[in-house]
Amino acid sequence: MSEAEGFEFSVPVLIAGAGACGAVAALAALNAGVTPLVIERDDRPGGSTGMSQGLFCAAGTQSQREHGIEDNADIFFADIIEKAKGQTDPVIARALADHSAPTLEWLRAAHDLPWELDLRFRASYGNSRQRLHGWPGHSGDDMVQLLHRRMSDAGVDVLMETRLVDIYVQGDRIIGVALERADGAIEKVGCDALVLACGGFGANRAMTDRYMPETATLKYNGHEGSQGEAIVVAERLGAVLADMGSYQGYAMLTDPQGISVPPPVLIEGGIIVNKLGNRFTDESADIAGMVHPLAGQPDGLGWVIYDARIEERCAQIPELAQLMALNAPKIAEDLETLAKLTSTDPAQLAAAVGDVQRVAAAKGTDAFGRSWASETPPSGPYRALKVTGALYHTQGGLQIDGAARVLRQDGTPFANLFAGGGSARSVSGPSSWGYLPAMGLTTAVVLGRLAGEGAARASAD
Ligand SMILES: Cc1cc2nc3c(=O)[nH]c(=O)nc-3n(C[C@H](O)[C@H](O)[C@H](O)COP(=O)(O)OP(=O)(O)OC[C@H]3O[C@@H](n4cnc5c(N)ncnc54)[C@H](O)[C@@H]3O)c2cc1C
Repeated sequence: MSEAEGFEFSVPVLIAGAGACGAVAALAALNAGVTPLVIERDDRPGGSTGMSQGLFCAAGTQSQREHGIEDNADIFFADIIEKAKGQTDPVIARALADHSAPTLEWLRAAHDLPWELDLRFRASYGNSRQRLHGWPGHSGDDMVQLLHRRMSDAGVDVLMETRLVDIYVQGDRIIGVALERADGAIEKVGCDALVLACGGFGANRAMTDRYMPETATLKYNGHEGSQGEAIVVAERLGAVLADMGSYQGYAMLTDPQGISVPPPVLIEGGIIVNKLGNRFTDESADIAGMVHPLAGQPDGLGWVIYDARIEERCAQIPELAQLMALNAPKIAEDLETLAKLTSTDPAQLAAAVGDVQRVAAAKGTDAFGRSWASETPPSGPYRALKVTGALYHTQGGLQIDGAARVLRQDGTPFANLFAGGGSARSVSGPSSWGYLPAMGLTTAVVLGRLAGEGAARASAD
């Protein structure tokens, strides 16, 4: 990459991508005294953030304390490392754990973001404490719209339908970027620091085939803008990529509605059976990795079986509320009727549900290793939702340091290039089994703040 001349204009900090990572980076840069320019390829704010449940992890928050939850950065760090079986970057894990609560408290105080502990998401799937925070009753789309309102209130310009297509460097410094506008025109813009917040590469089939071929048969249920463009452009500059085979799959995408069954349906005691009515996995073990056991079942289809009690506990979660409004759940007083409605084998369905009910009565552990010591399995009246497995988002990307600076092949950081969220390496290990619930948005929000602050500082150097 050579030095570019003739920039049409220059900005101190340019932020590419306007999902959670880009928006939080913009607010952080502003907080540090620099007004950034944000660009976004789409014509409306959204990204993966807009498709998400809008929940992220933070450890040691005021909201947790108010609910008597003892948590801190060390416990969070240990959970990340354990879930990834030690196969992740401890520097990034430490940065996320240390900065999660301060980031949430700053956004609440400085930008009036209504994020608090989500009590419906109990400690599970590797989070040893109840630590998922969000805007209760609201979705990821609400989250991204609100972040954009805050940017607008603060006077941050967001250029929509503007795509980062190239980066210009001089020595170890980024000096500007090439942007493609809606009409195809290319504009060269100078910048003193650059934040890459363009999400991951789940929508780029050539990249997923290359880095995670085992996902080839999975439907993709993430944002179309996750084309990996920032990752590809930065790699050309000599940036290091890491954990490119890492991703979150999900086993509970409803068919045909395409809406996620929220994890609390399983956490509260729901189970999954295949199209014949048989259970096949411990539904409490791995929220992301469970996609593969499901994909291995006949036609890759399953039924999430739950009941009226679980429905009542989860009814306010936007995704379940949407499914109920669509009359998507099959409802039956007894298992025989449920088997008819789901076209499962009545004997096998009765055996599967009867087995967990018997094991739970004895507070035991079932044949798949799921403990029923403190969980209540479904009992009539029953509900069932048809599900399939999908790839939601990727977790590998640009190797960064603990300050969200992008690293080069020799391990040193670019002086003024930052990345976060889906564009950066996360802490989910090398594959599909290391995803701790809500790490996607945790890396977007927390690294967004570190990147925005760092970019503001670097722009003054
Ligand atoms: C269905 C679903 C549910 C999820 N639920 C959760 C959850 O509850 N909790 C959680 O933690 N994670 C969840 N995730 C993951 C989470 O949504 C992502 O990890 C997170 O939103 C990533 O944020 P981001 O800002 O990096 O990316 P995005 O939100 O995708 O934002 C990136 C933006 O960059 C834009 N862009 C891309 N390329 C360019 C370019 N070249 N130039 C300019 N702009 C560009 C895109 O259009 C996009 O708007 C979910 C994901 C999905 C798909």
